[in-house]
Amino acid sequence: MKDNFSLFGYEIAEKIKTAEVTKSEVFSWFKQRVEKLDKPLNSFVSLFDSADISEQKSLFSGLPIAIKDNICIKGKKITCASKILSNHIAAYDATVISRLKTAGLAIIGTTNMDEFAFGSSTENSCYGLTKNPWNINCVAGGSSGGSTAAVAARLVPFALGSDTGGSIRQPASFCGVVGFKPTYGRVSRFGLVAFGSSLDQIGPITTNFIDSANLLNIICGFDPFDSTSVKTIDEDFTDSLIEDCKNIKIGVPKEYFQEGLSPVCREAISAVIETFKAKGAIIVDISLPYTSYAVATYYIVASSEASSNLQRFDGVKYGARCEASTVEDMYSLTRGNNFGSEAKRRIFLGTYSLSSGYYDAYYVRALKVRRLIKNDFDKAFREVDVILTPTAPSTAFRVGEKISDPLSMYLSDVYTISANLAGLPAVSFPCGFDKDNLPIGAQLIGKEFDEKSLIRLGYSYQQNTDFHKKIPKLFGAKV
Ligand code: GLN
Repeated sequence: MKDNFSLFGYEIAEKIKTAEVTKSEVFSWFKQRVEKLDKPLNSFVSLFDSADISEQKSLFSGLPIAIKDNICIKGKKITCASKILSNHIAAYDATVISRLKTAGLAIIGTTNMDEFAFGSSTENSCYGLTKNPWNINCVAGGSSGGSTAAVAARLVPFALGSDTGGSIRQPASFCGVVGFKPTYGRVSRFGLVAFGSSLDQIGPITTNFIDSANLLNIICGFDPFDSTSVKTIDEDFTDSLIEDCKNIKIGVPKEYFQEGLSPVCREAISAVIETFKAKGAIIVDISLPYTSYAVATYYIVASSEASSNLQRFDGVKYGARCEASTVEDMYSLTRGNNFGSEAKRRIFLGTYSLSSGYYDAYYVRALKVRRLIKNDFDKAFREVDVILTPTAPSTAFRVGEKISDPLSMYLSDVYTISANLAGLPAVSFPCGFDKDNLPIGAQLIGKEFDEKSLIRLGYSYQQNTDFHKKIPKLFGAKV
């Protein structure tokens, strides 16, 4: 295959369709790219030699896709970047994986992440951190940093990530790619290792909205194996690839533009607003007054659910086990030796807020505030169709800068977590660069099950700008 790494997924698909290249050529070309270029990034955990590509004639048949290491692929290692699962082999395919396989996609490998998806920098991984392809002294973001870095460096056309509080969108923003978190219930969680079950969603990480719409078509849909999966009519998301924003009302919440937002991100979002206006959108100033409670609420709800979900890693059912003479010792040695420090912090926080003395004061109160945050959005969406915000307060920070200060790390999710608390679809897309050439992300948040408006706006934006076409220098050279 021609060394044309700048091709988008749908363009490679076209070449396969017209028989200009074969599916196996495409696979080995990307595989080679990973082998030769991933060293400085560390975005992959495992790379597969080959993929079973079904004869399916779907549009994306034969295209390689990388999968975050917390989604089960039958017969392959699934580790969640944790020592406690370092030798665990998935016994079944997650529903998203079965769907990808049915559509003929070639699963090429698994990607690095923060342990169990706890983090915003991919520094909490037992495999070491993933670096940012735009500047390897900076983090890729997290927790899906492996997937976003791999896509940004064009090591794969696209990848899947998971998003509990921003883990698809924040690293997408740091790496300059499109990261889509669908509505809660839209994509099956069956086979996704649970972090915060009421918040987690799997979503596509791509370079452009045409690829996102096509991947959403493949992975979305009701699944009887997931009790929170929602029955909706099967939609074709590519219907929304329309270059026009006429009369779409975009709300801009003032709470997302206050102290803490870096000036360069603020300016970039102002420019996004101008682009949307020029395409016919109507900009409305709105308020989401409970925004300032979102981080605190999220860290109580998410840690509570995480502490409960992680109970299953006890040395008996899955993964690592430390032998000891009593069951209690076996539990504590296994968990003490094999969970990383952020996982332990979440277990402590969650166990504390779920404990009988503090349940009402913390967990129940957080649930009540979660409802108020949702009400804010319901109210805003009576007035506007979508909401536009920055994705993160800054561009990618430097490796090590926040790792010893959990609170400042938690604050990098300030703009993304509300969409998870409210279950809403949200997407981050590249909208500029700072003076050090690090990407800036903009976020669109939609009404429940209205992914289509996000696709329409994102597509229109990309038709009128070229930030999504830029490739980091280190990865722009031919292999
Ligand atoms: N950074 C957030 C956290 O650490 C979100 C993680 C995620 O979405 N998985 O919890």
